Amino acid sequence: MTHHKVCFIGAGNMPRSIISGLVKSGYPATLIQASNPSTPKLEALAADFGIRVTQDNRAAAQEADVVVLSVKPQLMQAVCEELSDIDFSNKLVVTIAAGVTAARYGDYFKQPIKLIRTMPNTPTQIGVGMTGLYAADDVAAADRSLCERLMASGGEVVWVDKEADLNQVIALAGSSPAYFFLFMEAMMDAGMEMGMDEAKARQLVQQAALGAAQMLKQNPQLSPAELRHNVTSKGGTTAEAIATFERGDLRGLVKQAMSNCIKRAEDMA
Ligand code: NAD
Repeated sequence: MTHHKVCFIGAGNMPRSIISGLVKSGYPATLIQASNPSTPKLEALAADFGIRVTQDNRAAAQEADVVVLSVKPQLMQAVCEELSDIDFSNKLVVTIAAGVTAARYGDYFKQPIKLIRTMPNTPTQIGVGMTGLYAADDVAAADRSLCERLMASGGEVVWVDKEADLNQVIALAGSSPAYFFLFMEAMMDAGMEMGMDEAKARQLVQQAALGAAQMLKQNPQLSPAELRHNVTSKGGTTAEAIATFERGDLRGLVKQAMSNCIKRAEDMA
């Protein structure tokens, strides 16, 4: 398998997760470089994964085949403009930033670039991430599969056909670990109010959540509704709890939350 030189511009939490997955999956650490203005994160990356590090974004980008832009969205313009006089004709640019559209990268770099926008989520840091990918039609299949290989080291990937669909990826997977945390937090709080100690409430809730997710994943022929029906006896305890959620319009609330999430992503673009 051909390995390319990959550099990360910005060495924060998300690139650390991707780098960790890459190195664990056998990608040669010497082909990975991270660039960041301050040194503590770089030193940690070099010590933990054996990758190369620098404080010079331009030097990192110049020698890389794949440049992964991983600074906060508000810094993206300045970072791209700093790199814009480098010849990108043989480089693939991958961005993990939320909200910055492909058209804006075109303006910042002032040259045609091969760009893939990606939207990872935080479970990438433990190898069970979910990343949405979008590339314009003119991005070659080889570049798509290279990017897919990089991002799949942190979990699963899914391509979307339209750039705007990345906002749905944010609502369904990018932001959604926090929805599940909220649900688990609420369950733990309720359990503790009813007298369960925190450690036991946490263990009960986290294992139930993990079990439910695994059951869904391991039974692709069954829908979530079917799995739910299978554990809900008429007139039983689960039926009582589910009916309470339905009366409180949990579904309507979820729909509203996701639609507001998408609106926020659109406003940030
Ligand atoms: P972070 O704050 O942990 O890291 C950002 C890093 O960029 C910092 O180390 C900072 O020192 C560095 N930086 C600042 N100015 C720089 C410059 N001029 N050149 C190079 N590096 C510079 O952020 P993060 O969580 O790693 O997020 C990075 C990107 O990933 C963001 O655009 C974010 O939208 C995107 N993202 C994050 C998540 C997530 O869950 N953390 C999920 C999806 C997408």
